Amino acid sequence: MQVVRSPQELQEYRAKFQGSVGFVPTMGALHKGHLSLIERSVKENDHTIVSIFVNPTQFLPGEDFEKYPRRYDADKKICELAGVDLLFMPQKEDIYHEDEVLVQAPRQKGYILEGHFRPGHFDGVLRVVNKLFHIVRPTRAYFGKKDAQQLYLIQKMVRDFFWDIGIVPCEIIRDRDGLALSSRNVYLTPQERQKALLISKSLKRGAKLAQSGQRDAQKIKEEMLKILEPLDVEYVEIVDRNFNKIDKVEFGNTIILVAAYVGQTRLIDNIWL
Ligand code: AMP
Repeated sequence: MQVVRSPQELQEYRAKFQGSVGFVPTMGALHKGHLSLIERSVKENDHTIVSIFVNPTQFLPGEDFEKYPRRYDADKKICELAGVDLLFMPQKEDIYHEDEVLVQAPRQKGYILEGHFRPGHFDGVLRVVNKLFHIVRPTRAYFGKKDAQQLYLIQKMVRDFFWDIGIVPCEIIRDRDGLALSSRNVYLTPQERQKALLISKSLKRGAKLAQSGQRDAQKIKEEMLKILEPLDVEYVEIVDRNFNKIDKVEFGNTIILVAAYVGQTRLIDNIWL
């Protein structure tokens, strides 16, 4: 596995690849969720490129950019063992220039839900992913359903910018007890971790209600909020696959989303129906 820092170096190695190139962009502190994306890319492509970049532009002032976990040595080993060909680990100055031409998140879908509570977050996400796509030129790129709105917006960017890249949505990987894996879970104390389980529990309850005939989104949300009572909930929302809020659950076209604080840690999770 080659580890490269500069976009130019990455492109030199990339140019030598023949066949398909799978790409997995991450912010590192890799866990089994990331690994599932990497393994799928390795299986489905001739070459796999992983990027690790804690992207400053997607953090809002006051968020956890500085303390975001950085585990570069462990991450390298994980990538090497998984069969990654190229690991791209740029620094901020390798990626960003002064007074840039900007890509923006769509004003509507980029500013609801996550985008409402973290205004500008998706501008930063799309800005960096667009750059990474230009540098890497992947055949396919792998994204987790864990970040459902991000996945939707990246699919939209690919359509809107006529990118010839296949976006591959990947299932959410959870711990045995149901907690969705996240690099931010390391912030949780053992007590907070127990409390955090209410998030996946509420989603399971919502899904079960829908499966047993309750299609009214408002009623499902109310039941979920009862379970989430002990947490500091930012939103519980039910949307279709295009992130339009819906009143009635429609199987095959519904996502139930939760964002909540457990102590100081903000967690998101969702379930696809
Ligand atoms: P991040 O490092 O948080 O930017 O995540 C990098 C990629 O891994 C994104 O596409 C995430 O959606 C995905 N990801 C993070 N956690 C999980 C998980 N528990 N299961 C599946 N994919 C995940």
